[in-house]
Amino acid sequence: MSEQTQREEAAERSDEEQVTEKQALHDQSSSDGRPPEAPGDTPVGERAELSNFEIVNHYFDLAAERIGLPDDVAAVLRSAYREVQVQIPVKRSDGKTHTYTGYRVQHNGARGPYKGGVRFHQEVDLDEVRALASLMTWKTAIADVPFGGAKGGVNCPATDLEEGEKQAVARAFMSKIDKVLGPTRDIPAPDVNTNAQVMAWMMDEYGRLHGHTPAIVTGKPIPMEGSHGREEATGRGLVYLFREAAGKAGLKPSETSVAVQGYGNVGSWAARLMQDLGARVVAVSDAYGAISSEEGLDTRALAEHVAESGEVSGFEGADELDVVEFLETECDVFIPAALGGMIHKSNADRLRCRMIVEGANSPTTPAADEILQDKGVFVVPDVMANAGGVVVSYFEWVQNLQHFRWDEREVNDKLGRTMRRAYREVAARAEEDDVPLRLAAYEVGIERVAEAARLRGYIDW
Ligand code: NAD
Repeated sequence: MSEQTQREEAAERSDEEQVTEKQALHDQSSSDGRPPEAPGDTPVGERAELSNFEIVNHYFDLAAERIGLPDDVAAVLRSAYREVQVQIPVKRSDGKTHTYTGYRVQHNGARGPYKGGVRFHQEVDLDEVRALASLMTWKTAIADVPFGGAKGGVNCPATDLEEGEKQAVARAFMSKIDKVLGPTRDIPAPDVNTNAQVMAWMMDEYGRLHGHTPAIVTGKPIPMEGSHGREEATGRGLVYLFREAAGKAGLKPSETSVAVQGYGNVGSWAARLMQDLGARVVAVSDAYGAISSEEGLDTRALAEHVAESGEVSGFEGADELDVVEFLETECDVFIPAALGGMIHKSNADRLRCRMIVEGANSPTTPAADEILQDKGVFVVPDVMANAGGVVVSYFEWVQNLQHFRWDEREVNDKLGRTMRRAYREVAARAEEDDVPLRLAAYEVGIERVAEAARLRGYIDW
């Protein structure tokens, strides 16, 4: 079946057929206050088998209890408002049609339109997307941008897809979820294995169905009404928060050594901007290997090497490391910027850093978090640290709605102000309540969402 026919068929189908709408109010938490962790030991270099949703709900439950949220209200805020699952058949260059599964989860829209990235990865499943959507709800509230939380994903072998196949996945996904999206309803953005080009295809597909609508996605290419500074925004936000937190860990930015796990959008920009501060990036890893350099890697040349070769290995002048050696690299700051569950109870003890700034979503399991706390490692949590992307996505959306463009300095200045304010509000709460930053961040986020839901008359609190 041609792509055009598939699109026409998708457009003709009713909302009911395309959308499994689920205003799920059932209790999805398994937490009893103790950090959950998968049975058995996860191999040191692999991801924890712990469900991402369990990780997020563990913190949600702890914070909800601390702020005195009644159980029935917590059940509404914990679960997702709407979950959509769609079929994505794509004809590949082997001549066969491969059927992938796509998800869009809209977790909570009390504070504004749903907002969250789209991930293409072979491990994407509903649980992961649900967890990431929930995280977005708290993140947008903590950063105080007027959005709710959502996430999307397509389970597909993203890194094996040819460019044309990736485009077909992006278009088919958009054409099947378009009915629940909209610039005032739900606005996707890039995440793992998706980028500005994928957003351009998704915007174009939405435009074919509904007319030209730049504000339907953020993280677009600059010539397509993308925002200056969006590509670097998550990495830049991490660096702003590192600067805020450095004093707490007794670090001077210009004398800091850094290890970065994952050298994609978030990791490579964090590395480049840390180097601009004078820090030494002593080790980096990706899905295929890891490298190090005692005197510090040239992070911009490394980004070019990755753009050409697709991996960090083979970078001239660097030593190759295995995954365990990478995790054990001595450094001041460790930046996880790959996938969730990478720091778990089998490897947390091996990290030799003083601070972790979480670029990835849910990189640290609750059990690992406790180990790090006992070791005195200062953790700047994902739900606040990696908000830079959604903050500049908000700026992009505002520019699109006004058909106006801000220059990069204006975007970066506004991003810096937003990130610093969020950090200071959360740090003040952490001090007041004598809790770690992560718990304080959840407390602040949940309170803001609960208040908006109450003011709308959605919950009785
Ligand atoms: P990306 O696809 O650009 O990069 C991902 C990187 O992780 C790649 O270098 C990949 O090789 C590496 N990786 C994958 N598996 C790995 C493994 N097992 N070990 C080591 N490295 C591995 O994705 P991204 O947009 O940079 O996102 C990275 C993380 O940051 C994700 O958790 C994402 O949800 C989170 N995040 C992204 C944004 C954003 O604006 N892009 C915003 C907030 C949070």
